[in-house]
Amino acid sequence: MYEPDIEMMELSDIRKLQSERFVKMVRYAYDNVPMYKEKFEKAGITPDDIKGLEDAHKMPFTVKDDLRQHYPYGIRAVELDKIVRLHASSGTTGKPTVVTYTEQDMETWNNLMARCYASAGVTKGDIVQNCYGYGLFTGGLGFHYGAERLGATVIPISTGNTKKQLMMMKDMQSTVIACTPSYALYLAEAAEKEGYDPKKDFNIKVGMFGAEPWSEEARKRIEDSLGIKAYDVFGMSELYGPGVAVECQEQAGLHIWSDEFLVETIDPDTGEVLPEGERGELVFTMLTREAMPLLRYRTKDLAIINYDKCKCGRSHPRIMRIRGRSDDMLIIGGVNVFPSQIEHVLMNIEGVGDQYLIIVDRDVLDSLHVQVEVMPEFFNSPEYDPAAFAKKLETEMQAILTVRARVELMVPGALPRSEGKAVRVQDKRKNASK
Ligand code: ADP
Ligand code: ZN
Repeated sequence: MYEPDIEMMELSDIRKLQSERFVKMVRYAYDNVPMYKEKFEKAGITPDDIKGLEDAHKMPFTVKDDLRQHYPYGIRAVELDKIVRLHASSGTTGKPTVVTYTEQDMETWNNLMARCYASAGVTKGDIVQNCYGYGLFTGGLGFHYGAERLGATVIPISTGNTKKQLMMMKDMQSTVIACTPSYALYLAEAAEKEGYDPKKDFNIKVGMFGAEPWSEEARKRIEDSLGIKAYDVFGMSELYGPGVAVECQEQAGLHIWSDEFLVETIDPDTGEVLPEGERGELVFTMLTREAMPLLRYRTKDLAIINYDKCKCGRSHPRIMRIRGRSDDMLIIGGVNVFPSQIEHVLMNIEGVGDQYLIIVDRDVLDSLHVQVEVMPEFFNSPEYDPAAFAKKLETEMQAILTVRARVELMVPGALPRSEGKAVRVQDKRKNASK
């Protein structure tokens, strides 16, 4: 462990620390961020009403739109001269959301990332090939400085240029790879195409994968093809970036670093706090953020939190696998389905390739059309019967997800590969309504 005293703190002590920090943070945000003062006034409360965690539910939420409205320099509690770094989220629609960091925030973030690496068994002797994109995206620099903080060797190769990635992986004998799970799948496929034998030619032992939802089946495929152990890392730019939560070697959920983050689960429709163990929207409060305090930030990410002590010795609560954001949920003919569930069903079927694209449209009724690549070996084998195989996938989706889908089998290599976050859904209904 990187910070064993904190990581192995008893849950009751974590709660005490959270409570103290929370009360202080509420006061700090109120005094230094005009937006929070306004929000409090609107809700008819003052920081005096917040005496501990038990009062958290009284506070108003913060939402992504609050960040957008504070473009360009974001929600800020400090003057610009105290800011040492700025990042921005992709902002697929409209202006990007900008997040800022003080020196102390950078310290915190780098430490959290170092904890994440250590949690996956990475040590200072490791060579980390960091294929997350460097730039405004928090992935690149987040994974970079965390590895440096730990004392490991970082290869800041960034994303793309897959042939060079593979060459460096072999020549440098990198032991850790950090990238999106979709890029890991692509790297594994490209390695084979380029004539590498990953298990012989590469020395990768650990993968640090995150920034997008991925299924257990995708994990198995990455682990089998690269001969590594794949760890899940969760984060978002609003909460520093990557490093909010990570799997330990038990791989039974992602520990949320709860000395820094207070997490609640709410009903996304009513905003009510849900009892422990129920799936809901994750709401985070940053407990020491200096530049950009966030109180009760609604992430739209849906997950279950587990408060049981983990076998690894850490008592920080765990996020059980993240299903996706409520925005990503597709409603098809009244049935709710997440892209990650479709991935789960498809990748469980032998012969299905690693790439798929979900296309939703509406003529009179909603229609779900899934393009799926076939595994090359299966595609070229005499048993491959396209009509029967497509039918099998359709039947399986109907049985498990209760959605009717039209499956279109694709030649291996036909669908676009992703180097960062994969785009797996085309919802044509959205374009039509704009
Ligand atoms: P953007 O909002 O531009 O996508 P981020 O890169 O900050 O910016 O994305 C954060 C989001 O990515 C999270 O809210 C979550 O939906 C998703 N995400 C990040 N890590 C994971 C993970 N390990 N598993 C599932 N989803 C993840
Ligand atoms: Zn654990």
